[in-house]
Amino acid sequence: MNIPAQDPELVELRQLIRSGSSPDSPYLIQKWLHTESCCINRRGMEPCQRCSKERQQNHFEQQFYLLLDTISDELIDPQWRCLCLDYIYRPLHTLHQLIENEQDRAHWLQLRHELSVCSHYVAAGLNQPR
Ligand SMILES: [Zn+2]
Repeated sequence: MNIPAQDPELVELRQLIRSGSSPDSPYLIQKWLHTESCCINRRGMEPCQRCSKERQQNHFEQQFYLLLDTISDELIDPQWRCLCLDYIYRPLHTLHQLIENEQDRAHWLQLRHELSVCSHYVAAGLNQPR
């Protein structure tokens, strides 16, 4: 099976997003979320008809955690972290669409909980006067 995640362009995109080195280029996040996929047959954020649920969960969870790590990183430009916070709901939303049983649901709630703890903490930090 083709694994486009190893595409050098995607590797670079992920590094750009994680490093927050281009805080004035929000299109980078859109481009990454649109380009990176579980397989070459799928585009965008809709669930894929071809890949297994596990493969897709793994894929969207990696996107979720890359954004969560960036949001939590205090060395990164606050504007960029806020952007990542705006976009992290996309993989979370697709993961929600992939829920098939109680175990999936419990796992999804755990991810959402991690995000709410993180975003609460980040929002408090970002609102502090400098
Ligand atoms: Zn797929």
